[in-house]
Amino acid sequence: MRCPFCGCEDTQVKDSRPTEENSAIRRRRVCPDCAGRFTTFERVQLRELTVLKRSGRKVPFDRDKLVNSVTVALRKRPIEADRVERMVSGIVRQLEACGESEIASSMIGELVIDALRGLDPVAYVRFASVYRDFREAADFESVLGEIARDAIPHGDGELNGSTEAPAEPAESKPTRASKVKAPNAKTSDETH
Ligand SMILES: [Zn+2]
Repeated sequence: MRCPFCGCEDTQVKDSRPTEENSAIRRRRVCPDCAGRFTTFERVQLRELTVLKRSGRKVPFDRDKLVNSVTVALRKRPIEADRVERMVSGIVRQLEACGESEIASSMIGELVIDALRGLDPVAYVRFASVYRDFREAADFESVLGEIARDAIPHGDGELNGSTEAPAEPAESKPTRASKVKAPNAKTSDETH
């Protein structure tokens, strides 16, 4: 595997272990030339999938792109990366199982909505309300671009898709980063 940092062709595997409930293998790699570290995943691919965009364009299905999109919808939500990976794997398996090698972009959007509904109600509302407005005109990736644009200027509370949505955490919520060391913290080891 080529080093993504310096292009060296000969990187070494440092650690290799099963992940995502044994459906993937995660490898930590290190480059002998630049000492760059990166991770690769090995996964079963049952079928080559092509996404049919609304424009009529066909592009190869890209799992990473789906992960990125879902991550945008889950922005600032307390969902572990591992659960996101499992959710995406579930979506991919459904796509592979549908029997078609060409998948309409709208079908992926629907699966994402269904999966988000189970994973996180706030992300679900965030995605679904914007998606409903755009579904006739745009692919779900553009919807997520819209969410990202929306989320940046005025926080996360602007979507009004559903009254059942749980309250958004206030932006002013005290952060847990306030783990400020007490001035005498250093001495704690020395106390008897
Ligand atoms: Zn390198």
